[in-house]
Amino acid sequence: MITGKNYIGNLLASTGKVKFKTFNPQENKENDVVFSEASEAEIEVAVALASEAFKVFRNISGAKKSEFLNQIANEIEDLGDELIKTYCLESGLPEGRAVGERGRTIFQLRTFANLVKEGSWVEATIDTADPNRQPIPKVDIRKMLIPIGPVVVFGASNFPLAYSTAGGDTASALASGCPVIVKSHPMHAGTGELVASAIINAAEKTGMPNGVFSNLNSSGIEVGMKLVKHPEVKAVGFTGSVGGGRALYDLASKRLEPIPVFAEMGSVNPVIILPEAAKNKGNEWAKTYAGSITMGSGQFCTNPGLILGIKGADLSNFIQKLSEEIVKIEPTCMLHPNIIGAFESKKVNMQKQKGLQTAASFSDEINTNFGRQTITTVEGATFLKNTTLHQEVFGPFSMVVQCENAQQLEEIISNLEGQLTGTVLAEKEELEKYSTIVNALQNRVGRIIFNGVPTGVEVCAAMVHGGPYPASTDSRFTAVGINSIKRWVRPFSFQSWPNEMLPDELKNENPLKISRVIDGMRIDN
Ligand code: NAP
Repeated sequence: MITGKNYIGNLLASTGKVKFKTFNPQENKENDVVFSEASEAEIEVAVALASEAFKVFRNISGAKKSEFLNQIANEIEDLGDELIKTYCLESGLPEGRAVGERGRTIFQLRTFANLVKEGSWVEATIDTADPNRQPIPKVDIRKMLIPIGPVVVFGASNFPLAYSTAGGDTASALASGCPVIVKSHPMHAGTGELVASAIINAAEKTGMPNGVFSNLNSSGIEVGMKLVKHPEVKAVGFTGSVGGGRALYDLASKRLEPIPVFAEMGSVNPVIILPEAAKNKGNEWAKTYAGSITMGSGQFCTNPGLILGIKGADLSNFIQKLSEEIVKIEPTCMLHPNIIGAFESKKVNMQKQKGLQTAASFSDEINTNFGRQTITTVEGATFLKNTTLHQEVFGPFSMVVQCENAQQLEEIISNLEGQLTGTVLAEKEELEKYSTIVNALQNRVGRIIFNGVPTGVEVCAAMVHGGPYPASTDSRFTAVGINSIKRWVRPFSFQSWPNEMLPDELKNENPLKISRVIDGMRIDN
């Protein structure tokens, strides 16, 4: 049952005065439950508990953490229909999407459970002593990755499960040994509370310290800001807009002790359609992209918001076909009136820009809170001059840039901000012919796609979900896949430490049988 309260460690609390409700965009009305925003005192207790819990949790074995993560997955499964119903009521997203996202969330938790149970992820590295080394003896040094401390997680509105309460940030932070305080997203506070209850149940059943997890409600930005400024918080995971991520990044860097903010933010995900692909498969790609641009009402961070090609009859035909195809698709419900408001105002602002033409816009009657898909087009020179045209319009919107020639296409790509993904639609030979353009694109993105769509992020070890700023605040890390655990750890060395006092990962006898590097040689067990 949803109470509207905060989880301050294992206890429910609602002493705060600020109350709010979530919104059902399909029915265009508020949902019933009243949520209580976390008070200053509750924030303090949650952080103090997390800080205390860290003293224990940082040393808990991989096997125990694995039990905890698997139990969270079990408890989420046990939430059954209530979770799915609440998700749909708070997001307007269809049931199939809710079920799919729950599956992905559970898969992520179990993947991290397996990773920490196996244990080699800590990158244990041992350089043994050599007392006879000349001119000075060599000491014994042993290194591994250790958790950084309490982590605050902000989820995004468009993924109430997979990028929220028990999403990738929380799963990876808990796996690393860091307690987590979630700043719950106000648009899906009920979904967040249900998932939080699953985490708390799992923590209690597997004997985790109180404070290993807290879930704080908020209706505005204050709770999040207080958390980021709190001296006992040691890192931040954020998924959301560039504005929000940047504000938190700046706040964290102004602290007396600056802390890392791993913000995964918006992106326009440029797609290049090269001449032979436009000629041979333009119609096919137009149909595929009409689907990708409107999928989930365009509310994906990997939505293709920018398509670039070289001016000519084939590109014109592609634009024509894309425009025809996109208006055949029935619009769908967007997440919240605020998201629709932002979509409409950003779209109108784009349409006001000099030289931008609207090629297609769904014009029939639509339900309240549904998003009207729109395709616009602009000349390459105009796009280059006006950086407003480079910004994300979060929703079913895309812009086709008609470049004068290959040089201008390369110049535009080189001048784009950092992106999560880049896509090349091409005949294979064109990759070689236009290699400088492909290289320029690689330099701007975290993942490059050949003849596909950027929407849909596979959860696997090889996935990079991140990219040069502003796609993320640190392009050396990924927010998806097992390597996302690296955001919450730091390398640490023991020098001349007694063997029996070392963590198991670094002991001579290797009791965990993990893979290690010893005196420069990888030793697998
Ligand atoms: P958002 O408006 O930035 O909100 C995300 C969270 O950050 C919310 O909890 C929000 O709290 C908080 N927040 C925003 N600005 C803040 C500030 N200045 N100070 C403190 N807290 C702040 O984003 P959203 O609408 O939920 O999500 C849509 C965006 O996320 C799109 O741009 C999309 O591309 C991006 N996204 C990126 C990824 C990725 O992996 N890169 C994945 C999904 C979505 P309040 O709501 O309480 O203000």
